[in-house]
Amino acid sequence: MTSLSLRYLLKKIIKIVVCIITTYTGYQYITRSKSNKKGLTILTYHSISNEIEPDETVTPEEFERQLQYIKENYKVISLGEAIEYLQTDFGKISGSIVITFDDGYGDNYYNAYPLLKRYNFPATIFLISDFIKNNGSKYLSPSQIHEMKSNNISFGSHTVSHQILTRLTNEEVVREIRNSKDILESQLSQIINFFAYPVGTRADFDDAIMEIVKARKYTCACSNIYGMNGENADIFALKRIGIETTDSFFVFKKKLEGALNIMSFKDTRFFQKLKRIFFKL
Ligand SMILES: [Zn+2]
Repeated sequence: MTSLSLRYLLKKIIKIVVCIITTYTGYQYITRSKSNKKGLTILTYHSISNEIEPDETVTPEEFERQLQYIKENYKVISLGEAIEYLQTDFGKISGSIVITFDDGYGDNYYNAYPLLKRYNFPATIFLISDFIKNNGSKYLSPSQIHEMKSNNISFGSHTVSHQILTRLTNEEVVREIRNSKDILESQLSQIINFFAYPVGTRADFDDAIMEIVKARKYTCACSNIYGMNGENADIFALKRIGIETTDSFFVFKKKLEGALNIMSFKDTRFFQKLKRIFFKL
């Protein structure tokens, strides 16, 4: 067994064990009544492909199984609707899921889009404006984006070059947030309202960066801080639930129920700092 598949196996087992523990200790039910039942769940996907790297890849078969489960148990709404309900009528959020994809991989067009269309599910893809390429590359092309745009897929900015914003100067941050919006708006011929912070843990954006996003007239911003969004959610630091290679179907279902919300400690500034010192990231 290679070290990679061993790592995947270990991660898979740990997640199953955490789910079982949180379910049987009642943790899941506490968080469920607090946030999941009434809260907004936003899922983060990346690549939908049979290549198992990077960690965030989900196979097309697994993705379809997940969509089928969502269809039977939840209601899928667009990110635009979710923001509207969060601000006006939180009751409408109940049992809702928003589907998002980060980075704009080309396989989103080949492997995710046909399934989303079949299930009639809206979704949002966050594009890195420098990474929009020609057909057949790793990333989405302008023609693929245009086709999806007319079929229930909305697009947001994921900066110009996907650098971690807290490592940049103020001017560079403004450029990443402003220029990506300008480039995408002229490419798509529509207003870009949504933003997603690269990497997106609490160590990857701060209050000053959130203010720049607001000032550039975005209507919301997604982080990758793990969790669901309650009635008082900050719409410029929306939490999401990342779906990963190592999620078994059991873990996927439990994630939607809130069983892994305990894992949000991983996304705090303190834990990320420790991790980055330890692994010299
Ligand atoms: Zn990203």
